[in-house]
Amino acid sequence: MFLSKSDFLMGIDCVKSLWLKKNRKDLIASADEATQRRFDIGNAVQEIARLRYPTGVMCPQDEDVIEDATKTKALSVENDVLFEATAFNQNGTFCRIDIMEKRGDVWDLTEIKSAAEVKDYYIDDLAFQKYVFQTAGYSIDRCKVLYINNKYVRQKELDIEQLFTLEDVTEQVNERLFNVPAEAENYLKIQAQEQEPQIFLKSSCQECPFYHYCGKDVPEYSIFDLLKSKEADVFYAEHNSLRVEDVPESYCSTPTQLIDREAYLTGQLHIEPAEIKAFLDTLEYPLYYLDFETAQLAIPLFEKSKPYAQIPFQYSLHIQREKDGPAEHKGYLHREKSDPRRKLAEQLIADCGKTGSIIAYNATFEKTRIKELANLFPDLSDDLLALNERMADQLIPFRRRALYSPKQKTSASIKYVLPAFSDLSYKDMEVHNGGEAMSRYQAFLENRLTAEEEKILFEGLDAYCGQDTYAMVVLMKVLYQYAGE
Ligand code: SF4
Repeated sequence: MFLSKSDFLMGIDCVKSLWLKKNRKDLIASADEATQRRFDIGNAVQEIARLRYPTGVMCPQDEDVIEDATKTKALSVENDVLFEATAFNQNGTFCRIDIMEKRGDVWDLTEIKSAAEVKDYYIDDLAFQKYVFQTAGYSIDRCKVLYINNKYVRQKELDIEQLFTLEDVTEQVNERLFNVPAEAENYLKIQAQEQEPQIFLKSSCQECPFYHYCGKDVPEYSIFDLLKSKEADVFYAEHNSLRVEDVPESYCSTPTQLIDREAYLTGQLHIEPAEIKAFLDTLEYPLYYLDFETAQLAIPLFEKSKPYAQIPFQYSLHIQREKDGPAEHKGYLHREKSDPRRKLAEQLIADCGKTGSIIAYNATFEKTRIKELANLFPDLSDDLLALNERMADQLIPFRRRALYSPKQKTSASIKYVLPAFSDLSYKDMEVHNGGEAMSRYQAFLENRLTAEEEKILFEGLDAYCGQDTYAMVVLMKVLYQYAGE
């Protein structure tokens, strides 16, 4: 059995996940939309980054890594820059490095990353690669990470030099290198053993692709929901129980946890009418319920935008002129592949009028986008910033537990609050959440959708974003009801 770079990194995280990957292929789920999107971003960033190395030669990446490694060796004789170079070590470890550059008698290794910073595991990644390349007979000198420079502001043309930061991490890699051979040997043994490793479940397991298997006996509402990560891990280690019923009051370190625990145990709502009323008293009619959808592109497509900047392309607005009155709907969705920001900003100013509260759920997000638009368009700045002066945050009464239902499972996200207090939910929608809206709109911008898929996407986005603001109308009624008004 071989050990790849991703296997090595998986072993560092959890040896059981490595074992399951090798021995229980039936448990591996196909990539979800978010994972697929991460792959797509990674591939797009790799392609652009390679343009910085015009003499680079792509090495073969077939099924057989031993053959690929042999072909890489042959290419390394004639070429100074190789992409996707494969190295294979007789003990079964192998890897592919993104960029390999010859300097005299030595080679430098460079990993391309779509993130905007060097993360700790990149050092593990490069240390493993350096180990494999060295044991495969290459003389390796420097190790580097080429990652996105999120300070870069695109002008008319994309500047590939400015888009990236190249950081030399050789010292950190060399420090890490010492332990790599023994770790690699250990992971090779573990993945080949017959018995599944026994690993204690912990809160971070919820992120693991095998959680559906390891966590199958975790109650629907568990200590991982109620307690903070470290508290939950300590509690589980000490009490061997995942049940909220077994958590004593003394374990709850915040008033919110006490409320959540009590609500779960009694099955009752927690209501603080005076607190809800205090929030409602800050509002002024007409109420404008506002929600943005944004795209976040690693490689900026539009002039005066940075990598990973949140570019608003859609908003939904429900307007309620009096308490319990009907809610009129307006909105904007940019259906072209051009920069959406100017048209969206102009229409937003026109749609929001001059008076009345603008209500968003987690309003910091909307306020920040409006501030960014104001910086981008000085002629619209006064009108845009005036919108922020009118902003109120509907999340506040739910986050502060002025109103809480055990059905929220500790979360104050609108995705949990809405179904807890109404029959509405996001389950059967074409677009289910903001992440999906973002990733599918980005696919549209990058010309990866057919005309039919674009049509379905626009309908889905209209329904989804509209639901987010209609949800706030419904929740406002709920707040009035529990405030006793
Ligand atoms: S769910 Fe946890 S224990 Fe199971 S494989 Fe993943 S990280 Fe390891």
